Amino acid sequence: MRYAILADIHSNLEALEAVLLDVDKQGGADVFWCLGDIVGYGPNPEECIKRLSQYQPLTVLGNHDLGATGELDLSYFNPDAAAACLWNAQRLKSEEIRYLSQLPQKAVTDDFTLAHGSPRDPIWEYVLSSAIAQANLAHFETFFCLIGHSHIPLVFESAPGDPGHLRELPLRLTLGERRLIINPGSVGQPRDGDPRASYALYDAEQRLIYHHRVPYPVSITQEKMRLAGLPPRLALRLSLGR
Ligand code: ZN
Repeated sequence: MRYAILADIHSNLEALEAVLLDVDKQGGADVFWCLGDIVGYGPNPEECIKRLSQYQPLTVLGNHDLGATGELDLSYFNPDAAAACLWNAQRLKSEEIRYLSQLPQKAVTDDFTLAHGSPRDPIWEYVLSSAIAQANLAHFETFFCLIGHSHIPLVFESAPGDPGHLRELPLRLTLGERRLIINPGSVGQPRDGDPRASYALYDAEQRLIYHHRVPYPVSITQEKMRLAGLPPRLALRLSLGR
């Protein structure tokens, strides 16, 4: 079985299409997993939900998804994120709001727990230090955990008797005897300095996770954002990957 692991699409249809095409190019995936934040920031919330639904992904709820349902006080977001979240929410039909509202905060499948932020605090916590990653090991029971939220492709490897360490997600990661927390990076708004869409493929037979980067036409997404009146800073950051 092969699994496509996508996170933080953020209403970026051009990035999503480029990733879906790349999944095909890499030999396809039997199952899709989505680690939350399908919407928010970008210009195509409805289209991204519809396109992704075609793959019937196992999806968990992100903070921006929750924001778009109206069930979250948007003052928790910075002003640009809040403005974009409100704009996204206004574009969604009741059917899509219902879809986002019923997403679970965590999902467990095979050896993996899926959560947007962290298994300890799925909506808000960022796993960006070894100490926070280590503290989260007690909050999931599977061997591996997949997260999004920070938009930075990372892996935390635990080791008995040492604090473990957080590092950049390599192009090829072998699943072995250590518990891992893995962030595949963001499809629609990468923040590690590389503007290309980021995602991962898991090959269960080989026990390997492959990290992929995919270029997409950023300027098309930016032009849509400009026409929509979305905050200029959010469009600019797409070409910086920050
Ligand atoms: Zn996000």
